Amino acid sequence: MNKTLIMTPGPTSVRENVRLARAKETTNPDIDEKFYEFYKETCHKLGIFLNTNNEVRILSGEGILGLEAACASLTERGDRVLIIENGIFGEGFGDFVKIYGGEPFYFRNNRKRKVDIEELKSFLEKDSNFKYATIVHCDTPSGVLNDIDKICPILKEKGILTVVDSVAGMGGEELQVDNWKIDIALGASQKCLSAPPGLTFLSISEDAFQSMENRKNPIASFYCNLLVWKDYYKNKWFPYTPPISDIIGLDKAVDNLLNEKNIIERHDKIASATRAAIVSAGLKIHIEEGYSNTVTVIDVPHGINDKKIIKYMLDNYGVMITGSFGYLEGRVLRIGHMGENATVEKVSYTLFALQKALEHYGYTFYKDIVSIFFERI
Ligand SMILES: *Cc1c(COP(=O)(O)O)cnc(C)c1O
Repeated sequence: MNKTLIMTPGPTSVRENVRLARAKETTNPDIDEKFYEFYKETCHKLGIFLNTNNEVRILSGEGILGLEAACASLTERGDRVLIIENGIFGEGFGDFVKIYGGEPFYFRNNRKRKVDIEELKSFLEKDSNFKYATIVHCDTPSGVLNDIDKICPILKEKGILTVVDSVAGMGGEELQVDNWKIDIALGASQKCLSAPPGLTFLSISEDAFQSMENRKNPIASFYCNLLVWKDYYKNKWFPYTPPISDIIGLDKAVDNLLNEKNIIERHDKIASATRAAIVSAGLKIHIEEGYSNTVTVIDVPHGINDKKIIKYMLDNYGVMITGSFGYLEGRVLRIGHMGENATVEKVSYTLFALQKALEHYGYTFYKDIVSIFFERI
């Protein structure tokens, strides 16, 4: 294999038709009215993908811009914001709230498990005076998946706006923005959508726009201001020149997703077989409950160095996986099986390379990991 196989939990491989779409002739997207139609149509397709009738906007910036834009647009000085967290991205929302003058209140959970719904309910019985709440769908550093379908309706019932980071979930996990009452759902181009990094997109509810319009003070940002995007189509005006080639690529990536009927099942099948193979081979999945189907996070066996495993796999087999960061640094290995990477071929080869690397550094397998993977797939 002469090309590196990128099996990290994003960025993922980009399908050829997306790469080629990005090479298309461009125009001046601020002036050309046809581009406004194209942008609108791409947003509409993203809405279908997210199961929402809410407005969708694509912004020029990587996924983190989506998180910051949601917080910048909703937060006013002194606002109480509920940060529901069981992972690094979940907790990180609180930092954006602080930057914009809000007061984050952390509802902390066991980081090896999904957010406990009953505990959240009883917490909200005592205190539900929050302008909005943030929650991560799949918290990628640990691979934990939260029940957004249960969490957001509970919050909404208490009059709390809901912000969901589904960057690493959407496309690999079920996501129903309208049915699940998500005011702002945000995603990015480089995970299950399998386009290159560079774009974030958000669905924004009426309630969320209204909350922005009712602010006492203006939004303290321009680039992170969602309200300036509200009437772009009516006014035929973009706040800044959209990255046209990126958006043409994203449009093709959404087509790919919408054309695949069983995309959630594909991820489920690959992820289940991966977990079964990992566990039967004697390795340990890092979390205990709430496994995401887009990333598998494995504890580094005792006495083994994560960086050496990663380097060995890359140097000898051309497969790139990754470790993690923050409190998980050095403790886990992560295999991404999202979008274009969630295939039997790619994942089985990755598991093969993982076994070779671990064996090279002295770890003994109970069983051949690839055989188990093929038995379970
Ligand atoms: C990837 C990801 C983002 C975007 O962050 P980067 O690390 O800059 O790619 C945001 N949220 C989650 C949950 C992600 O997995």
